[in-house]
Amino acid sequence: MLAGEITDYGHPEDVIEIVDVPKPEPKTGWVRIRVEACGLNHLDVFARLGHPEDEGMFPKRSGCDITGVVDAVGDGTDPSWLNTPVIVYPCIVCHECEYCLDGEHTLCTEYQIIGEHVPGGLAEYVVVPEWCLEKRPHEMDPITAAAYPIAFTTAWRLVVTAGQLQPAETALILGASGGVGNAALQIASAQGGETYAVTSSTDKVDRLKPWSTVVLHDPTFIFDTLVHEETSGRGVDLVVDHIGERTWQQSINSLAGGGRMVICGATSGADASIDVRSVYQKHRRIIGAPMGNRRDFQQVTSFITQDKIEPVIEDVLPLTDLPKAHEKIENGDIFGKIVITP
Ligand SMILES: [Zn+2]
Repeated sequence: MLAGEITDYGHPEDVIEIVDVPKPEPKTGWVRIRVEACGLNHLDVFARLGHPEDEGMFPKRSGCDITGVVDAVGDGTDPSWLNTPVIVYPCIVCHECEYCLDGEHTLCTEYQIIGEHVPGGLAEYVVVPEWCLEKRPHEMDPITAAAYPIAFTTAWRLVVTAGQLQPAETALILGASGGVGNAALQIASAQGGETYAVTSSTDKVDRLKPWSTVVLHDPTFIFDTLVHEETSGRGVDLVVDHIGERTWQQSINSLAGGGRMVICGATSGADASIDVRSVYQKHRRIIGAPMGNRRDFQQVTSFITQDKIEPVIEDVLPLTDLPKAHEKIENGDIFGKIVITP
């Protein structure tokens, strides 16, 4: 079968290879999926560029957002999965620790991500634990199914489960044209909240309007004063920040008294310098939510099937265009998701 592999750190054209490798066999409790589509995330790019927890083991096969049809089942699995269209919840967990027993799978002490710790879906076939399977709703096409699991499940966790956004509240979403940012904006809007979207790019202002009460166009990344102008000095109830050191203080400054900042990433760097008084003096809270649990995934799937939210697709490309796809994500010149069809 064909698979897209990262052979080293470096430029996409130099280190991404399309290779012919044996089809994997599912072990006990696992199934094999014939991949119809696999969505890309920043995780795929980090696998090639390296990040602090990266072990530097090559070759790597990334790809966390997987959909396809089950074509083989391992021992101990339910054979009725055969020929079923599925979506993969991409987390491997122990099912026994206190967090798993509580349904908080992403806190599992043995937590692993398919496409990061084990080979992912950028191949014609992939093996995953049976537990990760979710039946793909009839009305959902494979491209949509590959465009939402990581970004929308994380965004649901940020806005709804952790952020507790209420219909009468206001939310500020940074990087609203990216994967998680756009998902968070759509979910906040669907929840009935008043939404403020921040983008640094002029071209993206109009595209953000369908889900935004106000689009704050800010090429210099100075948005806290704009937020206070728009809210008559009050600030917002919720800020979704995945940018990190470049934006933390402004995000905190943008909050109303008692407001919540939810965070899931630090694309600009992790060494934020903040005035801690700006947090405690106004009863503000900072909450981490790097990915959602299985329940969050199911909730967001239901919202997509009901057409309340819809992943934006930038491009659908064959496996051979994987280097080009990496380049587009790394340069940030996209709006929405890139989906690969192996
Ligand atoms: Zn566990």
